[in-house]
Amino acid sequence: MNNIPFIDLKAQQARIADELSKKIDAVLTHGQYIMGPEVTEFEEKLSAFATQKHAISCSNGSDAILLCLLALGIGKGDAVFVPSFTFAATAEMVALTGATPVFVDILPSTFNMDPDHLKLSLEDIRKKGDLKPKAIMPVDLFGQIADYPALSKIANEFNLKLISDAAQGFGAKLGKNQAGDFADMVTTSFFPAKPLGCYGDGGAILTNDDELHKILLSLRNHGQGEDRYDNVRIGINGRLDSIQAAILLLKLNIFESEIEARNKIAHYYSQRLRDAVITPFEIENSRSTWAQYTIMSDNRDKIAAELKQQGIPTAIYYSRPLHQQTAYKRFPVGGGILPVTDDVANKVISLPMHPYLEEETQDTIIDAVKNSVDARECATN
Ligand SMILES: *Cc1c(COP(=O)(O)O)cnc(C)c1O
Repeated sequence: MNNIPFIDLKAQQARIADELSKKIDAVLTHGQYIMGPEVTEFEEKLSAFATQKHAISCSNGSDAILLCLLALGIGKGDAVFVPSFTFAATAEMVALTGATPVFVDILPSTFNMDPDHLKLSLEDIRKKGDLKPKAIMPVDLFGQIADYPALSKIANEFNLKLISDAAQGFGAKLGKNQAGDFADMVTTSFFPAKPLGCYGDGGAILTNDDELHKILLSLRNHGQGEDRYDNVRIGINGRLDSIQAAILLLKLNIFESEIEARNKIAHYYSQRLRDAVITPFEIENSRSTWAQYTIMSDNRDKIAAELKQQGIPTAIYYSRPLHQQTAYKRFPVGGGILPVTDDVANKVISLPMHPYLEEETQDTIIDAVKNSVDARECATN
């Protein structure tokens, strides 16, 4: 019986162990737990990594989205176009501002926002006339970059802001470009299980826009103005703490090599699983961060059960798309239906994925998937 972790944070911790305790000790010694020097240093390094002028660290990936929406003044009567096949926070933050999330379908290949369906949804909302389209928020699902060239073209055409929810795809590339080369603002999450995670909650926003940067800094700290005793707007407590920034500094150093390791593993998985299941589609000349390695099969429950029996965990992201969930059913669905979203939600299943997955373990997982599929074929023949 195996005991394979879905994500192995211990292996990564061992790699940075020595420096880690030194970095954390330094924070305990200087005592600036909030907005200490590590936060500034991390923001500088993060903006360089993302090739964006400004990085604004914050409390988590959800708050990063909320701060972007607040910075754009989005609220009641506004429509923000989001996928339904995503983590709840993408639409949740829109609803929290009082604006209306409008669900858009995805492409069956990449699971990312379908530009054609976005156009249809925009025209749909325009025709109804009760909501004002304000922004598009695609997600780089499972680490694969959304179709920003097409999406930013639509944003320009309809005069909309483009916010990239890169909680899973921070570091993903299309050619030499990252999401920030197309979007007004990019958000990410440092939740421990994300490709770049800390040891608690954390997040960040990246932008090239000086004015948005200024507003975001204020919003992150209760809407503070130039005079710290005069709050000029309604904001939140959205700061990242110094210990998390210290940890992230170390993790950012090895992030690039970890993305490479994830790619190597993903490509090996795909090469050996291609004949057994539907393996992830990769956009030409792109680099995924492989937040998840997600296959599709009509028999995913059988695969999950057999792998579980062998001590191999799997996960389903997402078995229930947002437009089917209780809190989100009342929000509009572009064009009335999301056939691709509904279909893939019944077929996806994610396999263990992290940069420290050993070759032997990869083979164990692959063999288990192949056997569960073969066993099914024998049974039905
Ligand atoms: C994880 C995630 C978030 C939220 O990040 P938190 O740091 O957990 O708040 C938002 N969007 C997507 C797509 C995510 O995967």
